[in-house]
Amino acid sequence: MSKQLIVIGGGAAGFFCAVNAAKLNPQLKVTILEKTSKLLSKVKISGGGRCNVTHACFDIATMSKKYPRGENFVKKTFHQFFTMDTIKWFEERDVKLKAEEDGRMFPITDSSQTIIDCLMKEANKYGIEIMMNAEVKNVAFKGNQFELKLSDSRLLASGYLCIASGGYPKSSMFNWLTELGHSIEDPVPSLFTFNMPSNPITKLMGISVQKARVKITGTKLEQEGPLLITHWGMSGPVTLRLSAWGARELKEKNWEFGISVNWLPDYNEQQLAKQFQFLRFEIATQKVGNKNPLGLPQRLWEFLLDHSGINKDKRWADLSAKEQNKLIRNLNAFECNVKGKTTFKEEFVTAGGIRLNEIDANTMMSKKIPNLFFAGEILNVDGITGGFNFQHAWTSGYIAGKTIAGIK
Ligand SMILES: Cc1cc2nc3c(=O)[nH]c(=O)nc-3n(C[C@H](O)[C@H](O)[C@H](O)COP(=O)(O)OP(=O)(O)OC[C@H]3O[C@@H](n4cnc5c(N)ncnc54)[C@H](O)[C@@H]3O)c2cc1C
Repeated sequence: MSKQLIVIGGGAAGFFCAVNAAKLNPQLKVTILEKTSKLLSKVKISGGGRCNVTHACFDIATMSKKYPRGENFVKKTFHQFFTMDTIKWFEERDVKLKAEEDGRMFPITDSSQTIIDCLMKEANKYGIEIMMNAEVKNVAFKGNQFELKLSDSRLLASGYLCIASGGYPKSSMFNWLTELGHSIEDPVPSLFTFNMPSNPITKLMGISVQKARVKITGTKLEQEGPLLITHWGMSGPVTLRLSAWGARELKEKNWEFGISVNWLPDYNEQQLAKQFQFLRFEIATQKVGNKNPLGLPQRLWEFLLDHSGINKDKRWADLSAKEQNKLIRNLNAFECNVKGKTTFKEEFVTAGGIRLNEIDANTMMSKKIPNLFFAGEILNVDGITGGFNFQHAWTSGYIAGKTIAGIK
């Protein structure tokens, strides 16, 4: 009987496992089971329809630090298949990737369809069978075989199984996997933006600051980066990173917490005081609201003056020490409250999933059940935005495929 592999999940990790296994071992019969009527649907919508395939980072230690969960695990897996390998893999199949200034890498076509076409072409080339509307409800391991039951009661069997079914938002959705003997870290949302209902700062929607430092009060969570004010609160890389690093802590707070924003992280209080002293002398007769001297967007500057109780028509020379101190505090530590979160539609992941100590990072095989493999977001690995989640999907899918292809 020929060796058979069933891959559960027609997403990035499932396809990568299937096509690489089939290429490396032509004797292997490979089937992908996908519960919906669409393949690679997240690849399609990812990166705003452009698919942020990976990140232009070529150092494993630096790259691993972008994963709030799974840093040590990816440090091992990246040794087998890293960003350069992703770039090369796609290039060998006529898909060129380009890097943007912030390191995100996209196909040069700027279309996620290019990635889908490439993976579909590979699947056809190696004769992979694809079954859609095939939701696996139950898996049992009996006498060296996996027996799968689909939601329409169909039964399937295979000697090798790779579970690449993506992240699930609720613990109960993992039941069919915990019944197999694996345990999970409870799922929590990651990569979200902050809601600040009726906070006056939302009137500044559309304004962005290239470098702000945001701290979450009462925690050690702190990040620096671009911040965007929206009509519902705050967004931008700095909030997304905080949401990823604080995924569990913020859930425990029911997504209600205080933040402190440093709009000018390059200046400390003393430096700002010195700067103001200089301005009071240098442009003494000018109005404080006329021109913001510190490079902040004008509307934000006016908002912070107002918030500090300073009339924008006041002249620099007339700024009292008390007013100046208040302004410095609001520039360095503007405090506000977050009440709730909004899913970041561009790139959303679930933190949590299969516990990593139950998986061998060198092979992606379960340490509990032989010939059972996992790949992608189903594992308790998630990265911040920027192509890190797909890189983990490619890496883990590749390793699982390669291991399965090589088993004699
Ligand atoms: C809107 C959006 C944009 C994103 N953009 C980016 C980006 O640009 N860059 C980046 O790195 N990451 C991005 N991500 C994250 C990235 O898409 C995921 O991390 C990645 O798709 C995970 O791949 P996966 O194959 O593990 O899971 P998935 O892509 O979720 O695929 C899993 C598949 O398994 C199927 N399935 C589930 N359960 C079963 C079952 N029981 N039986 C059969 N089939 C089942 C699902 O229907 C699904 O098709 C984005 C995510 C979203 C939601």
